Amino acid sequence: MTALGLLGAALVGCGTGAADTPAPKAKATVAESASPRASAAAPGPKPARVPAAPPTMAPGPGGLTPVYTRRAKGTEKVVALTFDADMTADQGPRAARGEHFDNPELIATLRRLKVDATVFMTGRWAEEYPDQARSIGGDPRFEIANHSYSHYAFASPCYGLPTVAGPDMASDVQRAFDAFRDAGAVNVVPYFRFPGGCYDDAALRALAPAGVTAVQWDVVSGDAFAKDADAVAEQVLDGVKPGSLVVMHCTRSAAPVTERAIRRIVPELRARGYRFVKVSELMSAR
Ligand SMILES: [Zn+2]
Repeated sequence: MTALGLLGAALVGCGTGAADTPAPKAKATVAESASPRASAAAPGPKPARVPAAPPTMAPGPGGLTPVYTRRAKGTEKVVALTFDADMTADQGPRAARGEHFDNPELIATLRRLKVDATVFMTGRWAEEYPDQARSIGGDPRFEIANHSYSHYAFASPCYGLPTVAGPDMASDVQRAFDAFRDAGAVNVVPYFRFPGGCYDDAALRALAPAGVTAVQWDVVSGDAFAKDADAVAEQVLDGVKPGSLVVMHCTRSAAPVTERAIRRIVPELRARGYRFVKVSELMSAR
């Protein structure tokens, strides 16, 4: 398969994989960090407010990494838009030749429309666009989640992607967290999306040391390589129900109409009474 074909397959995998894997019946747990208190005996600047730790799910049977797909409880009209910022470990030369794996206009539109969102970023993307990673990860409207460092497959076959060996999986995820830190991103959450959405029990077991909650989706936007923004918007609008989690992309080169689709999706869902939340808020309801 050519490099271009490989990219295509990988991105299609991101957006069209089956999302029917039920989440383990693990109870969502919320670990809240205590806010530091100023000591009365130690006058000085007030300590910064420490936000509550993002909720995670308890490990599944046998310590397997838990998998979250959507909010299954309640009828509150909330929806989480998620954007995969894909760049594969071997795509540096293409970026150097001018290919755009980022989508700053999309991020600007989300800000202008005041839409909270979660960006699943590869470590390689953060290395290529550190200023954007820092900006996204410093904006309370957004949170950065982990989409691996390499964007290689964690289960095989997976749309022709090269495969990460089991013993290297946890370190590939950690390398992405390191890249976010090196870029200066602050709002980083311990959620992980498998490249291509491909996983199996062996991958869930291998990732256990990373301590992440895997996040899939229940609504496929179909934005990868789409040319018709209205078709993408309609697919999302048809699929969203209370508690949905939508997968889209934040990369101009392979998802060129996403920003236009968002300009239609957001007002229409708001007209239906929906509120946009990050995955951490979606997951917080028990
Ligand atoms: Zn991806």
